[in-house]
Amino acid sequence: MPDPIASAVQQLKRLPGIGEKTATRLVYWMLNAQPGTAHAIAEALLGLEDGIHPCSQCCNLTSSDPCALCADPRRQHDTVCVVEHPQDILAFERSGEYRGRYHVLHGAIAPLDGIGPDQLRIRELLARLGGVSEVILATDPDVEGDATALYLGRLLQPLGVRVTRLAHGISVGTEIEYADAVSLARALQNRREL
Ligand SMILES: [Zn+2]
Repeated sequence: MPDPIASAVQQLKRLPGIGEKTATRLVYWMLNAQPGTAHAIAEALLGLEDGIHPCSQCCNLTSSDPCALCADPRRQHDTVCVVEHPQDILAFERSGEYRGRYHVLHGAIAPLDGIGPDQLRIRELLARLGGVSEVILATDPDVEGDATALYLGRLLQPLGVRVTRLAHGISVGTEIEYADAVSLARALQNRREL
C-alpha cells in the first residue's frame, strides 16, 4: 500500500518552484484544513485536464470556444495583440488599456531549445488577418521575444498590415506576465512601428 502522505508529497514536488520541504508543508496544511479541502483542490485540478483547450480563433486556453474575449462583440476586431503565453493576456487585461483582440503564440522562437516558427501558432495568426489593420507584437522583451517579433514583422509587413512593437516601458528581461499594469499600459500607448 502506498503511503498517501508520501505520494501526495511526491506529486506536489513535481510542480515548478516546489521542493520537498514546501510539498511536505502543503500536505500537512491540507491534512489540518477543513474537511473537503483536498477534495475541492483535486476537483479543480481535474477540471484543468478535462475542460481546457485552445480557442479556435486566438489560441488562448479556454473552456468555451470561441473564448470569452473572442466572443465579446465590444472588443475591436481590427487590432490583434500577439503574445507568447495565455498568462500575458491576463496582464494586459489588468492594465485596462487594451480593447482589441489577442493571439497566443504558445512560446517564442528559441533555436537553442529547438523551437522554430513551425512550433508556434503563426499559421493560425495568418489565417485571421482579414479585417485586421494593426498587429501589436507584445512578445517578451528578451532575445527570444525580439527574434520572434522580428520574424513576424518580416512576415506581416508585406501583407499591408500595420505592425507595431511594445515600447520599452517594461524593462528588458521582464516577462509580460509579470509586468505591472502601469508600465504595461505605458508600453502599449507608446508602441512604435516595427
Ligand atoms: Zn479566443
